[in-house]
Amino acid sequence: MGRRGIKEYRAAEALLLIAADRDHRPLVCPSCSTPSIDRSPKRNEEPAGRVTLTCRTCSRTASYLVRASMSSPEEPRHG
Ligand SMILES: [Zn+2]
Repeated sequence: MGRRGIKEYRAAEALLLIAADRDHRPLVCPSCSTPSIDRSPKRNEEPAGRVTLTCRTCSRTASYLVRASMSSPEEPRHG
């Protein structure tokens, strides 16, 4: 019985992929080991919000939420 819809990575695989993405490393699918990961939005776009990583080979997806970029509007000041 085929399940319709989106295949997701196992939790451990998703964590690996997400960690690589956060470190700006090349993305390799932790399930099928191919470097055919689509990222949405793309890396040079502003990544605030949900990031979705999809393997074009095995169609698995992982997603996570990114905080608005490093320059936060209210930085705590010291001094
Ligand atoms: Zn894959």
